[in-house]
Amino acid sequence: MATTVNKQKIVTVLFSKVKKVVSQEQQELPVMEQVIYSICREGSSKEQADEVYQKLTAQFFDWNELRVSSVRELEECFRGMTRPVDRANRVIGFLQELFETTYSFELEFLHKKGLKQATKHLSRYQVSNDYLGAWVTQRALGGHAIPIDPPTLRVSKRLGLIEKTQEQVVEIRNTLEHLIPKAKGVEFTDLISAVGMEYCHEKQPNCAACPLAKECQFATENAKPTSKKPAAVVKKSK
Ligand code: SF4
Repeated sequence: MATTVNKQKIVTVLFSKVKKVVSQEQQELPVMEQVIYSICREGSSKEQADEVYQKLTAQFFDWNELRVSSVRELEECFRGMTRPVDRANRVIGFLQELFETTYSFELEFLHKKGLKQATKHLSRYQVSNDYLGAWVTQRALGGHAIPIDPPTLRVSKRLGLIEKTQEQVVEIRNTLEHLIPKAKGVEFTDLISAVGMEYCHEKQPNCAACPLAKECQFATENAKPTSKKPAAVVKKSK
């Protein structure tokens, strides 16, 4: 694994080189809407998530109509993303549970609970997972959390920001939260996710085009030799 100094260098390069090629525009959304957005964003690019969230809010009259719609109808909105049925189920399940418990579609009351209680409350929803909790904490509750989805995990491991053997999501999240200052959390999340979606594919990562190639542990270890050894000169026997 990279040393702390090397990790800081990698993060600095991420913020300088990748920032230039990634849109930094943010969706400013209330707490409840960030829950829905996180279901769109996990394992997807920012552009994909923005597009799907826009469809969900434009094609249905309101959150109640979404709640009573069929999985098949919502699945259409998630087309092009991984796990569209699961995402549709999670959106409907969350809205249903929220409505049954609060008779409303808002979670602004979480601001008054304090961060610890608010995250605990979020974790109780059946559709909740570590990514959802961390995303909403980071984007809507003002806390420091780095949401870990497959692209974030893959890039972090390949760069050497976390150990190859680290598997527990909470432990991985803690490592990254320790490395990245709170003020940079949102930016880090968007940049590392963009690298994962654009270049660092599960199979055949495009290291040749990746802005992080020089700093990347995986790219260095897997670099092909650039020059061939000169052929041995064989003297002809007389
Ligand atoms: S250099 Fe290659 S392995 Fe490293 S982050 Fe970029 S695409 Fe992934």
